[in-house]
Formats: sequence, C-alpha cells, structure tokens
Amino acid sequence: MKYSKLFPKTLKQAPANAESINHQLLARAGYIHQEMAGAYTYLPLGWKVLNKISDIVREEMDAIGGQEIVMPALQSSEAWKKTGRYDSVDVLYKLKGAGDSDLVLGPTHEEIVYPLAAEYVNSYKDLPLYLYQIQVKFRNEARAKAGLLRGREFLMKDLYSFHSNDEDRDKYYEEVRKAYLKIFRRIGLPVVETKAGGGTFSALSQEFQTLTPSGEDIVYICSKCSHAVNQEIMEGKVCPECGGEVKGEKAIEVGNIFPLKRAFAETFNLTFTDSNGQDTIVSAGCYGLGISRVMGALVEVFHDEKGIIWPESVAPFQVHLLGLGLEEESVKREAERVYKLLQAEGVEVLFDDREDASAGAKFADADLIGIPLRAVVSKRNEGKQENKKRSDKETSFLSLDEFIKKSMIH
Ligand code: ATP
Ligand code: MG
Repeated sequence: MKYSKLFPKTLKQAPANAESINHQLLARAGYIHQEMAGAYTYLPLGWKVLNKISDIVREEMDAIGGQEIVMPALQSSEAWKKTGRYDSVDVLYKLKGAGDSDLVLGPTHEEIVYPLAAEYVNSYKDLPLYLYQIQVKFRNEARAKAGLLRGREFLMKDLYSFHSNDEDRDKYYEEVRKAYLKIFRRIGLPVVETKAGGGTFSALSQEFQTLTPSGEDIVYICSKCSHAVNQEIMEGKVCPECGGEVKGEKAIEVGNIFPLKRAFAETFNLTFTDSNGQDTIVSAGCYGLGISRVMGALVEVFHDEKGIIWPESVAPFQVHLLGLGLEEESVKREAERVYKLLQAEGVEVLFDDREDASAGAKFADADLIGIPLRAVVSKRNEGKQENKKRSDKETSFLSLDEFIKKSMIH
C-alpha cells in the first residue's frame, strides 16, 4: 500500500474529545474515527488490525470444534420479555419497529441462540454443539469515554456450547480456557486469569484481565501464589488460596467464560432425548471475548510517547518503508524496487512514497502508526538496507537479501 493513497493521513493532534490513550493514538494515527461517544468508524488501518485479531480468534474457535454463524443484532423483544431481561438489563437498547412492535439491539445473544438450538437439537446425537459468532453488540453504556475499551457499539466474539450433561460442559470449558490463553498469546496481549466474583453461576466462571493503569476493573493478585480474583469477592487482603498478601491492580476485562444458568434452557425448552429415551434439559456454557476492546487494550499496553507499538501478529502491515529524498530519480527507483521485492515475497508493506513530506514527518508518522519493522531508502543506502524495529532504539544495516529475509519472518 502506498501511503500517498491511504485514507486518511495522520493528525497532528488528537481530537479534543479523546480522553483515553487508545482513542488518542488510534485517532491520530488514522485507525479509527469517533462518530459519537461509544461508536467508531474503523478506517482502513483499523479495520486491518481488527480483522487480524478476529482471524486469530476464529482459527482457535474452529480448532475446538466451534461452528461460525452470524445472528442478527436487530431482535424481536419477545424472547427478551420471556427471560425477563427486557426489563432487567439496564444497557439494553429498545426501539420501535414497523407496526409499533418492540425491538431490541442485542447486547448478547442468549435470546437468539437458545430458541435456535431448541429448534434443531432433538436427540443426544445432536450434542455437543458449539456455535460462535464475531458480531457487533449494542450496549447503552452510561460512560463511553475509554475509546475502544467501552463502546456502545462494539465487536465481540461470543461462543455458546450445548451439552448433554454438566461433566461434558465442564470438560469443554477447560478446552475453551486453554484456547483463550492461546489466543491472547498469539495476539501478544498479556492476561491474567481471575476468578470472577459475585452473582456468577458457578465456581468455574472466570475472566481474562490485562493489567494496565487505564483499566476500569481491579484485580487482586497474590504475591505468593499468583492466585488472582476480581474485586467483588475479595474481602480482606489475604489470599483465599494460600494466605499470602494480595495487591490490587487496575485491569481491563478482555474475556469472560462461564457456564450458563439452567433457566435459559428451561425458558426456551431446550431439551433432548437421552439414550434411554428420557427428555433431558441441555447444559450450556457461554464464552465472550471483546475483539474491539482487545484492540484498545493492545494500544494501552504497547505504546510510548511517540505512538503505538503493535505486536507483529496483529499489525496492519509488517514493514513501513520510508522513501526519503524521492525527488532524486535514482532514490525513487531504488525505493520502488525494494517495495516491489518485498511485495513479491508476500510481505505486507506500507510504502511512504510522499514527495511533499519531510524526513522528520515520515519518521514521526512511522512511530505513531507503530508498524513493527521500519526500513529507510535514501541516497545514504549504499548497498545496505537501513532498518529498525519499532520496539528497538538501534538501527541496523543489512544487505537487501538479508533484510527481505528478516521481513519475511514477521
Ligand atoms: P464490563 O464489566 O467491562 O462492562 P461485561 O462483563 O459486562 O463487561 P461481558 O458481557 O462479559 O461484558 O462481555 C464479554 C466481553 O465483551 C467482555 O469480556 C469484554 O471484553 C467485551 N465487552 C463488554 N462490554 C464491552 C463494551 N462496552 N465495549 C467493548 N467491549 C466490551
Ligand atoms: Mg464479563
């Protein structure tokens, strides 16, 4: 991609309403544009990052037998009235449809997925069943000032598993837990697993939390055994596991997995005929992961005073190629040649080919945008390719061949 063609260019200053670091940097670098509090346009760079995160999540969900579907955001209120959540969920968006019907915008999808499963699951042979989606959610959040961390419209992966008994469900829960750890490892986002507190459905329930000062949650971590719990169940300052001292740290909840209340299956009559011909209630689990929140959390954790520092696996491009002094024909030709060679090897390159931007502006933009590897072509090249990792201070010089190999490792 040539930067001269990329929509839009970087901003000198963050928008006045951008309070959080992720909003400021993502807006300045041209990843997102806020349309109103909690609702964002994903610009070309931002959409690339979001898709890279989604693809990793999708691969790991498929690997544990998940089948991808997409359920509607626009829903009839009927099922919501049935579960009582039409009145009890305070962040629910309610609207009127044709003929004055009551509709909702889905903040989660139990009210769709249970009736769906109930329609198709008949016998124990239809179970287990793992359905997931990567889809937009709507929640009327009171405070939506933390950029992508708290959207009113946001992207979530939600997986629902249906089983013939609790033992099978608990076994699968453990598989999902491991898949989540793999996802966060592949994305490069550090997480701690915390036991979720209060009003949860079972002891199995847990969250995946990224420790960072900008987090809105507080998790308590034992200095002795690393056991972590979230705020609600933490009474006193002693670890419930080993008696060690615990310390509170701010954190972002990026994922949450838990068994679902039997009440949903009962409400929607989600039953199956077991091997003895008995009508039996289905056992279920729910597994959420905030795709767009992960993108915001990455920026909160990986940035410096100059800009974003993306992990390689989710960066929009792998190499940011800067052409300096392109008004000189020989330099321009060399920069184009390096660009084409990288592309021919399948390396994702953003080529800053602008002739009307200074070297200083190009370096500043590269730091702000945060692509993992930066390479410069200028008249100083003299057969060696200057390059630098965004996360390093030191520049290195390699032969063009060596540099292309280095780019391909990413
Ligand atoms: P929170 O306590 O932060 O409001 P939650 O516990 O209500 O979140 P869940 O219903 O567990 O959220 O949703 C699953 C995942 O979706 C969360 O772990 C989080 O990563 C993400 N998520 C929830 N609400 C938002 C939001 N408003 N904006 C972006 N991501 C969100
Ligand atoms: Mg949660």
